[in-house]
Amino acid sequence: MQSRTKSREHFERASRSIPGGVNSPARAFGGVGGHPSIIARGDRQYLYDIDGNRLLDYIGSWGPHILGHRHPEVIAAITQALETGTSFGAPTEAETELAEFIVHTIPSIEKVRMVNSGTEATMSAIRLARGFTGRSVIVKFAGCYHGHVDSLLVQAGSGALTLGVPSSPGVPAGCTADTVNLEYNDVQELSDTFAKRGSEIAAVILEPVVGNMGLVKPTPEFLAALRELCTRHGALLIFDEVMTGFRVAFGGAQELFGIKPDLTTLGKIVGGGMPVGAYGGRADVMDAISPVGPVYQAGTLSGNPLAMASGLATLRVLKKTNPYPELEAKSARLCGELSKAATAAGIPHTCPRVGSMFTLFFNPEPVTGFRVAKTSDTQRFAKFFHGMLGRGIYLACSQFEAHFVSACHTDEDIDATVQAAREVFATL
Ligand SMILES: *Cc1c(COP(=O)(O)O)cnc(C)c1O
Repeated sequence: MQSRTKSREHFERASRSIPGGVNSPARAFGGVGGHPSIIARGDRQYLYDIDGNRLLDYIGSWGPHILGHRHPEVIAAITQALETGTSFGAPTEAETELAEFIVHTIPSIEKVRMVNSGTEATMSAIRLARGFTGRSVIVKFAGCYHGHVDSLLVQAGSGALTLGVPSSPGVPAGCTADTVNLEYNDVQELSDTFAKRGSEIAAVILEPVVGNMGLVKPTPEFLAALRELCTRHGALLIFDEVMTGFRVAFGGAQELFGIKPDLTTLGKIVGGGMPVGAYGGRADVMDAISPVGPVYQAGTLSGNPLAMASGLATLRVLKKTNPYPELEAKSARLCGELSKAATAAGIPHTCPRVGSMFTLFFNPEPVTGFRVAKTSDTQRFAKFFHGMLGRGIYLACSQFEAHFVSACHTDEDIDATVQAAREVFATL
C-alpha cells in the first residue's frame, strides 16, 4: 500500500485557504472519504503525487488527456506559442485553424465560437437557442451535467414531469423555472412533454453518451425521438459533447450514432489540457450571435493562443494517429476482464462502455438513467476505490463518473489493473 502522508498534510494546508481544499468539488473525495492525492506531475498514462507514488491514471484530467500527459507534439506546440506571447485580445491565425478543424471533423458544425470552458459553452448555447427561437423552455435530463450553469443546475427529481427545482442555493427559482427535467432514455415522457409544451421549447440539451452519472448509453429509439420531436416542434437539439467530442469517435457521439444535432458544445479534448470550450452548429443559428446577430456572448481570453496551440496539436495528433480502433480494443478487454473478475468474486455489477469511456457500477441492473444509477452501492464503490488507489490505480473518486483509457495505456497496464481489481474484489 502506498504512503500518502505528504498529500494529507498538504491537503490540510490547502483547506485553510481554499474552500474544501479544491478548486472544483469533483476532486474532493466527498463520495469516498479521505483526502485527494496532491499531484506533482504527469507523464504519459501516469500521475506522480508529492509522496512519490506512481498512479496509473484512468481520469486524464476528467477527459482531456486522450493522448496521455505531456504528449511531445502538444508540448512543442504550446512552447512555440509561448515564444510569441500569451494573449492579444485580437484575432490570430490559430483560432481560424482550430475552427476549421472542428468544422471538418464534427459532422453538424458549420460555424463555431471558442470560449474558455465547457460551462461557458453550454451557457452560451442555451442563450443562443433561446435567442434564436424566441422561446424560453429548456429540456434537460436527470443525471446529465452541463457545467455549473444556473438554469441547468436542476436537481434530478423523481423523473416526473415537473418544473425545475434548483439544486444549489444561490440559484433563484426564476433561473430554473423554464427548465424541464426528464428521465434519460424515457421516450414516452419526452413525447408527452413535447405534446403538452412543444411550442414553448427552445432546446433539448443532453449528453449523447452520459458520463456524468457514470456511463449511460442512449437507446437508438431515444436518439431518434429526440431528433424527430425537436424538428417537428421547431426546437433546437443540443448535443453536449464536452466529454464525448473527439473521445467516443473522432467526430464525437454524433458521428458514432449518425444523428445531427442543431448545436454542439465541446470542451476537454478540444483544449488538450488547456482551458477551452466551444459551441457550434448550423450556420443560420450561429449567425444569431454577436457581432453578426443580436445574441450577446464574449470573452477577453477566448481563443487564447496557448490554448489554441494545445487544442490544435491534440486534434492533429488524433487525426494522424487514429487511436480509436486501438482504444476500443483495449477498453473492451479491460471492461470484459473487470466484469469477469467481479462475477467470479460474486459482486453484482454492470460495466457499460462506449469506446474508451466506461463505468463499473456496483449495481446488478442495466443503468439506463438516473433512477437506476442512484441505486448503486456507493459504499462498496468507496471501498473498491480506496483499494485500487492503494495499489496505484487512479480511478474517479465517485461511483457517478466515467473512466477514460488513453492512447498510452498498454496491455500490461490493463493486466495490472485487472489483477489489482481481483485482489480488491476479494476484500469487498
Ligand atoms: C465537463 C463537462 C462540462 C463542463 O465543462 P467545464 O470545462 O468543467 O466547465 C459540461 N458538460 C459536460 C458533458 C461535461 O462533461
